Amino acid sequence: MLDALLSRFEGLANGPVSWSFQHDGGGLDTHVVFGSMIHGNETGSLPAVVELAEDLSSGAVQFGGRVSLFIGNVEAARADRRFLEADLNRVFIDSDVDTHEHRRARELRRILDEADVFIDLHQTILPTEQPFYIFPWTAKGGDWARGLAAARVWVTRPSGESFSSGTCCADEYVRNRGHIGLTVELGQKGFSPSAGQLASRVMRRALVMAETGDREGPELEFWRTTAKVPYSDRALRLRPGLTNFRPVRRGERLTADDAPTVVSPHDGVLLFPKYPPDDQPLPNEIVRVLTRMGQHPRTLWGQASSA
Ligand SMILES: [Zn+2]
Repeated sequence: MLDALLSRFEGLANGPVSWSFQHDGGGLDTHVVFGSMIHGNETGSLPAVVELAEDLSSGAVQFGGRVSLFIGNVEAARADRRFLEADLNRVFIDSDVDTHEHRRARELRRILDEADVFIDLHQTILPTEQPFYIFPWTAKGGDWARGLAAARVWVTRPSGESFSSGTCCADEYVRNRGHIGLTVELGQKGFSPSAGQLASRVMRRALVMAETGDREGPELEFWRTTAKVPYSDRALRLRPGLTNFRPVRRGERLTADDAPTVVSPHDGVLLFPKYPPDDQPLPNEIVRVLTRMGQHPRTLWGQASSA
């Protein structure tokens, strides 16, 4: 399935860097960019990306502005890996480092440098109870997130608070330029009808929003990371079967029966539970606990910059 989709895309790829497609409707000064598979094994959006490129080429979908579609990391996808040498979604930075992903980030910046709106389509490693947005609060980003209705929930933080310091994600790179950049987690990684349908609906809706200025959509729920459980000890292992957005209670045990005890510090939901194999380096954290925000971010943090 992967190879067939990639070869359909390759037949249309006409963008300024490899694995990219561009269409210019010639009538509207807005450039909408969609990113797919910045993490190689997050393939769920690929069928929708190929179909949209085909529909724009054939005229079945009309858009008056510019639209770019890119596939982030084909080489990692073919290896069924998140990345080959470095996490591509951390290296949209100025650097001379010469890994596959640093080189690819430098290429993709040529597209992102011209983006007015960038929607990055990701998937989670483990199952999730629902799709979600994850990016810092800005009023305009919020308008787009609500209008796209890609998810009911948004995991957010104050603007300017980096996902992890010394790094830069693709959406963050676009926001730092003062434009709209947002990330949607469509579901668990891999091909699925639900991921394909959601990606398709979101991208097509984004083109309508760019063309009409419509931002209407249902209000979102806002969640914040309020605890990060550090991966302080190799002996730590989570209970089996934890998922993204699984509710937890204060004091509930998170670790397996035969591992050191870690309990949830408060009520909330889990995010990014990790079960790293023994031969892999330890990630910084084993799981996060989120709390639903009692106040709208606009009330709490204001408009937060132009984007
Ligand atoms: Zn991802």
